[in-house]
Amino acid sequence: MGSDVTYNFVFKLVLVGECGVGKSNLLSRFTKNQFTLDSRSTIGVEFSTQIIQLGRTSIRAQIWDTAGLERYRAITSAYYRGAVGALVIYDITKQPTYESVERWLSELYDHASPRVVVMLVGNKTDLESNRCVTTEEAKHYAENKGLLFVETSALDSTNVQLAFNNVLSEIHRRLG
Ligand code: GDP
Ligand code: MG
Repeated sequence: MGSDVTYNFVFKLVLVGECGVGKSNLLSRFTKNQFTLDSRSTIGVEFSTQIIQLGRTSIRAQIWDTAGLERYRAITSAYYRGAVGALVIYDITKQPTYESVERWLSELYDHASPRVVVMLVGNKTDLESNRCVTTEEAKHYAENKGLLFVETSALDSTNVQLAFNNVLSEIHRRLG
């Protein structure tokens, strides 16, 4: 209807994880190829959209980003409602952000569909010399929980496309 952009599916994804792990920068790297060094907090909820092509299928990803949900309890349900995918993000240089993954997963499963496709994402691999969480440990944890897993860097772009594309293609695969 007068639009150049057509797509076959709209998938809602949510980004979760502690403040400072790189949620907003992963999103801006994926949707705008932009990265910012300052850590301006997201105020409330924002979302960005990106169309990706899987073979002959176009998928419109609607990706929701937020500041620490604990400060915005009232919007928690709305944030997760209808999500078919989630990236649960921690910072490989900050052990507490990895330890809180369990809590983010339980909040996610409390509010989203049990069939939500979840990827565990260890961000900031460019800071390898400050790494606290080993790849093996996180990979093992993800396997036990039935989660997809990848390590990324929003700063140097490593695996950012791959992370979002894998979640979207897994959602699509499970549909059909
Ligand atoms: P959010 O609170 O989870 O949205 O995190 P932000 O995206 O705001 O990032 C928090 C801080 O970490 C900012 O200073 C970013 O520049 C920085 N940051 C985000 N991703 C990376 C990354 O992959 N590598 C490095 N070195 N810094 C990052
Ligand atoms: Mg943010």
